[in-house]
Amino acid sequence: MKQRDKLGPLLAEIRACRLCEAHLPDGPRPVLQAATSSRLLIVGQAPGRKVHASGIPFDDVSGNRLRAWLGIDRDIFYDAERIAIMGMGFCFPGSYRGGDLPPRPECAPTWQPRLLPLLTHVQLTLAIGQYAQAGMLGTRCGRTLTETVAAWRSHLANGVLPLPHPSPRNQLWVKRNPWFESELLPVLRREVAQVLR
Ligand code: SF4
Repeated sequence: MKQRDKLGPLLAEIRACRLCEAHLPDGPRPVLQAATSSRLLIVGQAPGRKVHASGIPFDDVSGNRLRAWLGIDRDIFYDAERIAIMGMGFCFPGSYRGGDLPPRPECAPTWQPRLLPLLTHVQLTLAIGQYAQAGMLGTRCGRTLTETVAAWRSHLANGVLPLPHPSPRNQLWVKRNPWFESELLPVLRREVAQVLR
């Protein structure tokens, strides 16, 4: 069976998943997009409440900021033929004391080993936030998010660009690390344009 023929049924299986239903206060609603032709892979944390409601990945202020970082509009961002988008957890895990809970630990080990090998055209992976960086970089991950993102040049050589989460909560991080906007973002835009052209 061709990769393309395997991906459709797998996405349907994922979208019907209820594996950790008992731990999801708002119930399962897996949110992701992917096609075998996707050339850019964006891996984030997990959907927030707004994305859980819309069912559209990064359909929130964080998504607006991410699209500005990447230099692309919504039409390109939501074209699964070009861009695959997923979290380390596919469903909204709930929130606690004003912040979202971590992605459910069952999700990535259950689905990623089946899903990622089908995305054979991915040339660049963006690992957004500490959970995605741990998942995508493994032992190459730094001790802190700042350490991991600061080593972006060496990770890029292996096809992965680590980024902070584009949440407005991280404005202070961006201010404290001016190299992110002056050095990393121009390279990010150039790499993304090259991969998507
Ligand atoms: S978070 Fe993942 S494992 Fe849990 S129900 Fe959603 S898709 Fe299934």
